[in-house]
Amino acid sequence: MPTHVPGPRIAIVGGGIGGLAAAAFLNRSGLRATVYEQAPALGEVGAGLVVAPNAVRLLRRLGAMERLLRRAVPLDWGWEFRRWADGRVLSVEKLSGECERLYGERTYVVHRADLLDTVKSAVPGDRIRLGARCTSIEERPHGLRLRFADGSRAEADVVIGADGVHSVVRSTLAEPTPPAYSGICAFRTIVPADDAPDFALRPAQTLWLGPGRHFVHYPINGGQAVNVVAFAPAGDYTDESWSATATVEEFHAEFAGWDARVTDLIAAGGVPGRWALLDRAPLRHWSRGRVTLLGDAAHPMFPFFAQGAAQSIEDAAVLARCLAASADDPEQALKRYEVLRIARTTCLQQISHDRRDMNHLPDGPEQQARDAALAGADPLVGNGWIYGYDAEEVPLS
Ligand SMILES: Cc1cc2nc3c(=O)[nH]c(=O)nc-3n(C[C@H](O)[C@H](O)[C@H](O)COP(=O)(O)OP(=O)(O)OC[C@H]3O[C@@H](n4cnc5c(N)ncnc54)[C@H](O)[C@@H]3O)c2cc1C
Repeated sequence: MPTHVPGPRIAIVGGGIGGLAAAAFLNRSGLRATVYEQAPALGEVGAGLVVAPNAVRLLRRLGAMERLLRRAVPLDWGWEFRRWADGRVLSVEKLSGECERLYGERTYVVHRADLLDTVKSAVPGDRIRLGARCTSIEERPHGLRLRFADGSRAEADVVIGADGVHSVVRSTLAEPTPPAYSGICAFRTIVPADDAPDFALRPAQTLWLGPGRHFVHYPINGGQAVNVVAFAPAGDYTDESWSATATVEEFHAEFAGWDARVTDLIAAGGVPGRWALLDRAPLRHWSRGRVTLLGDAAHPMFPFFAQGAAQSIEDAAVLARCLAASADDPEQALKRYEVLRIARTTCLQQISHDRRDMNHLPDGPEQQARDAALAGADPLVGNGWIYGYDAEEVPLS
């Protein structure tokens, strides 16, 4: 149990993966933080996530690995790219052994609810307030005042906005603009292992690339299910919610003519979810005075490098270190945190954006050049700057 030192009163708005990770790292640093989450109960909706070594090493230091390993699947087979029409393998990157040798950790795939539960296990229960939807933050002579939808309020010295892509806290720091629609939507479904072909139960993340679309699957829930997520044009669809659904026919129609292993997986899943991906340009600053942002509130990114949640966990670790090092000067700590994080997360936002076009090339010379490049690529080594980053080793000055 860390000993808490007298320090700033820290309020975290949002109890998603990023907000809870911030509470966990602050607690580990001996600083007290309270999480205010709008939902009446904690529990991630949604589907699967890839947890790469840059996030795994931080979860291990939180003492949360045992929890993660209960349900996570190590991605030992690795990443496999295939062609949409015939399943021809474009490239395979074996991760087993190699990932640990290079980065000291494996890569896992897990349901979001299991990752949230893992992070939550490192936060004392009395530090989380549920059913607390923050509506505004006001600067007061001796601190900050948070107001909530139920009329209650709280006082803090530091506010961390971990309240996702529609962040209320962000709108106190930057021009309150709504995010744009990206023109892409994600279909997702979960196939029980009993209904899934052995092919999809391999510990592999398989990515099928086709014109205007791509289709991804990997096992989750300790191998008891297969997570399917597929990206396609959104048309005029703009619903951005984990609970919005499509029909199996609509999902099928987007992937008509694809390899039967793709269409069979669509048929084996239940009612698919459908989610319009939002787009935001990177912010140039995300700390002002004693207020800062973290995770999707600061830098929402397309999920094509599978790094959104991982970056929010990295943010949390760096922010806790900055606040612990300058507990008597939180403004300075928040500025330092922003300087340490913004270039890396902006770069990930941009390359995730560019990956959309690369993954969705129509058949032709550019697609052939991409496929040839994929065959020769070694993303495990090439993306070492992502997976090798240790948020607790980055020098603070
Ligand atoms: C299809 C898809 C696939 C993805 N795959 C991956 C992957 O493989 N790997 C990966 O690392 N990332 C992935 N991501 C990205 C990842 O899901 C997000 O980056 C991550 O969940 C962001 O966490 P967060 O805590 O910043 O925000 P959120 O998860 O959005 O959490 C915000 C929290 O704040 C709460 N909240 C909001 N407003 C208020 C308020 N006013 N008051 C109080 N509480 C509030 C919300 O209820 C929520 O609990 C994927 C995303 C998508 C859409």
